[in-house]
Formats: sequence, C-alpha cells, structure tokens
Amino acid sequence: MGPLGANLYPEQGAALLLSAFELGVNFIDTAEYYRNYAHIRLALQRFKKPESIIISSKTLAPDDRSAAFAVEEARLALNRDMLDIFLLHEIRNRSDFESRSGAWQVLRNAKKNGVIKNIGISSHSAAVVAAAAVDPEVDVIHCMLNYTGVGILDGGVEDMLAGIALAKANGKGVYTMKAIGGGSLMNQAKKALTWAFAQPLPDAVAVGCKDKTELLTNLGWLHGEDPPEAEQCRMLSRRLIFDDCHACGACVKRCANGALTLSEDGAVWHEEKCLFCGYCAAACPWFCISFA
Ligand code: SF4
Ligand code: SF4
Repeated sequence: MGPLGANLYPEQGAALLLSAFELGVNFIDTAEYYRNYAHIRLALQRFKKPESIIISSKTLAPDDRSAAFAVEEARLALNRDMLDIFLLHEIRNRSDFESRSGAWQVLRNAKKNGVIKNIGISSHSAAVVAAAAVDPEVDVIHCMLNYTGVGILDGGVEDMLAGIALAKANGKGVYTMKAIGGGSLMNQAKKALTWAFAQPLPDAVAVGCKDKTELLTNLGWLHGEDPPEAEQCRMLSRRLIFDDCHACGACVKRCANGALTLSEDGAVWHEEKCLFCGYCAAACPWFCISFA
C-alpha cells in the first residue's frame, strides 16, 4: 500500500488494514523502506485489540548507526515499546551478511534489552536461507517462495523448501514473500496463491493488497473458496519510470534479477524479469527511479 505499490494515503491504508483485522488477519509485514508505518499506526489506533496484531518490520541498514536509527524509527512510528519482529532486509549472500555485522549486532543488543522480541533476516536467496536456518541467533526468516521459483536466487523451489524445512526443524519462524512473483505471476494469481497457502511449513504468507476486492479475493483463496470478488480484481500493470537518468549503472548493479541493463542513454528495464522489489530505486543516487 506504500509508495512502491498502490501509494495509498494513510487514511486509505488504515481503512483497508482495519477491514483485514476484522476478517481475522493478525500479521503485518512491513519495512522501513516501504514507507507505510503511518498507515499501520493509524489502523492500530482505531482497532479495539491493537496488541493482537503482530508486526514484522525490517531495515536495509548497512551499519550500526543506521540500524539503531531504523529500530527507533519503527518503535516511534508504530507506537510500540517492543517490536515483535525486526529483520535485516534483503541479505544477498554471506559476505553481505558479514558486511552488515554492525547492523546485526544492533538487533542482537535490542533483543537482549527487550526492545525487539525476535530478530532475523529476509532474503531471496536459497543459500542464505539455508545458512540462516542453522544460525542459533536467527529467530525468524522471511524468504522468497512461489511455485515457479521466479526470483529465487542460488537455487530453485526445492532448495528453498529444503532451507525452510531445516529452519522449522530448528524452531525458527518462517514466512514467505512474493507468492505471485512480485506481479509477474498475476495472470495465474489463483494458482500461485493457493499453492503458497497450501505449503505446510511456513507460518505465514505475506500477501499485498491495495483494496478490499483484493483482500477478499486473497482471503477467499486462503480458505479454499471461489470468492466472487476475484472477477473484479484488476491485473496489476505497474511499471518503473526513469526520470533524467545519469547512466551511472548503480541500479543495474543493485538488481539481482537481471531486470536492468545499461545503454548509452541510461538504464533499460526488462519488465519480464522485474519483481518490483524497489531495491534499484533505493540505490539510485539521483532518485531517478519511481513506480507508476
Ligand atoms: S528492476 Fe528494480 S524493482 Fe525490478 S527486480 Fe530489479 S531491483 Fe527490483
Ligand atoms: S542509478 Fe539512477 S542514474 Fe544511475 S543508471 Fe540507474 S536510474 Fe540512472
């Protein structure tokens, strides 16, 4: 619902979240980068049992200072003394995890001091999930999983499922992302979502929705029904926009999915490979990339 997606106003987002809470949804996946804390805070203020809602957030922080800021920002913005779950966002590989050790240390200290209840990582990589599955300090793993394997790095669906099984055997919480491949499986959304919901191991599936029609469709499929609202769901037709590109290549380097290449005129977007994760936009030093 934030600027990377439907770009709802906080009032609109809060109304949608309240509808979800009333229908039994009790788990929210968010991130510093998603810029939707205001939507969540407003919904929690208006909900009769705000403490029953579990919130998982995450930070792209590369170091200790930015991680400490991210934790405090989340606590203030979400109006929570203790965060339920806070993750290092998008660990790409082992060296990425090692280079962010200062940020990880901040999360470890915050857990020790009762500021965060559970810490962990999010990743698109099956190899990272397998490593996190045996790391005793990781409580929660948020990982990429969809039935075609689109977007899974360092392996495929079976590798990711094996990592999830190992994590669960070691007592960790696991919730999955990108069941519809960030939109690339939207034309087979029912199949993709029902497959994700049917997986026995993950504790939850993070599914986005921008209006009540999508919410009711998602919930109908979760419950094995054929919701009439599904007929009215519009195909997502999102795209990336490049404004005044300086052709520096930073976004191309940042995209792990090969969805960007560089020409003399600037970045070139390959829609068929794009997962709409938004990481390229965060990497652009000139703020050239936006979503429409
Ligand atoms: S082009 Fe950008 S939004 Fe698309 S997959 Fe690459 S980093 Fe993510
Ligand atoms: S990072 Fe920004 S300026 Fe550099 S190539 Fe990408 S869009 Fe262009």
